[in-house]
Amino acid sequence: MRLMDLHLSEQHLAFRDQLRVWLNTNLTRPWREEWRDPKATEDSLFELRRRWQRKLYEAGYLGMDWPREWGGRGATEVEKAILEAELADADAPQSPNMLGIGLLGPALIHHGSEEQRRRFIPPMLRAEEIWCQGFSEPGAGSDLASLRTTATIDGDSFVLNGQKVWTTFGPWSDWIFVLARTDTADRYGGISFILCKLDTPGVTVRPLRQITGESEFGEVFFEDARVPRQQLVGKIGEGWRIAMTVLAYERGAMSLAYAVRFGRDIARLAQACREHGRQGSAVRERLGRLIVENEVMRANGVRNLANFADGKVPGPESSIEKIFWSEFDKRFRETALDLLGAGAMLERSCDQARTDVDWARDFLWARAGTIYSGSSEIQRNIIAKRVLNLPTEGR
Ligand SMILES: Cc1cc2nc3c(=O)[nH]c(=O)nc-3n(C[C@H](O)[C@H](O)[C@H](O)COP(=O)(O)OP(=O)(O)OC[C@H]3O[C@@H](n4cnc5c(N)ncnc54)[C@H](O)[C@@H]3O)c2cc1C
Repeated sequence: MRLMDLHLSEQHLAFRDQLRVWLNTNLTRPWREEWRDPKATEDSLFELRRRWQRKLYEAGYLGMDWPREWGGRGATEVEKAILEAELADADAPQSPNMLGIGLLGPALIHHGSEEQRRRFIPPMLRAEEIWCQGFSEPGAGSDLASLRTTATIDGDSFVLNGQKVWTTFGPWSDWIFVLARTDTADRYGGISFILCKLDTPGVTVRPLRQITGESEFGEVFFEDARVPRQQLVGKIGEGWRIAMTVLAYERGAMSLAYAVRFGRDIARLAQACREHGRQGSAVRERLGRLIVENEVMRANGVRNLANFADGKVPGPESSIEKIFWSEFDKRFRETALDLLGAGAMLERSCDQARTDVDWARDFLWARAGTIYSGSSEIQRNIIAKRVLNLPTEGR
């Protein structure tokens, strides 16, 4: 069942149908099959994602809500959500420049100079320059304003010193957008937003191997790395404000796309239970519960989409969505391992043996969603403050 068959306007239905035709023609192999191809490596999969992003861009499906002037489509949030759900339904690869397009693009459009937009946006959309996000540090994650990387002004340059961590796609990236301190005395007003090429002398990227076996993350070290002053976005000291506006884009209305992916994996789990002889009322009850929770998530996504369609600005509901899909992902993957038993743990992927659904890998990866782009505790704090008007905790 297609999960996007909602009460869409004629215009939205036309957009969706066109998109389905395009996907049928252009997506030759679902991501799961690419992933489990025994010849696939992390590098080859990354390059495949790069090629896919270029195709999406050429067809006008990237930067959906950006102005046309900057390579976008000027589309609505509803069309953006339709796109995400259809991509999920077709099991398309994810764009490798998602941090550039998701975060830096909006930062440049809203706060960058004309020259910066012309220089950086086109190669970002074409996946010719891959971007990573240098916000978190070993001592600054949830409490991002504690960051200690410094950018000292020296003539026409900033001199960067410090360390970033959990840098997604760091090992494959060409550029990083960095939050760095230009004033150590001013907690929020002393942070600036700086673009740095990763092959700058003094910059070192080290891959971090994860518990899933992949090395998608890196840590980035800056030791007297000189960056031209024109690579400052906005004004000195505006970095915090810029970061907070762009982070709101990261949470977005994603529940519908997640509901499509989870729905497909729940069906696969039911199939695997049948194949492994896991039957009976207890199993049926747990599978039924997953389906109900997924439907609740989908309904919540539809509600948020209706708000978007009415022109409402996303508020704390994006935190509610984020908690729901990420915590549900964890519960779902735990249930899968419980139901399938020890055998599922043996189906762990490594470069040599990828399996259809890698239950153990998905179980491990599900932890990540409750941490990145604001952990569940931080989302609950936002809801407590902005929805329930509860007092903030003391520091
Ligand atoms: C998959 C993934 C991808 C990531 N990609 C990037 C990236 O590309 N670039 C980047 O800059 N960063 C990235 N991060 C880092 C991410 O932003 C941080 O991990 C996140 O902000 C949490 O910070 P931390 O890891 O330092 O944990 P901490 O902030 O130290 O938190 C530890 C625990 O304490 C809890 N906690 C902290 N503060 C509070 C509070 N006030 N109230 C209640 N509980 C609290 C947290 O919820 C958590 O459970 C990524 C992380 C993951 C998991």
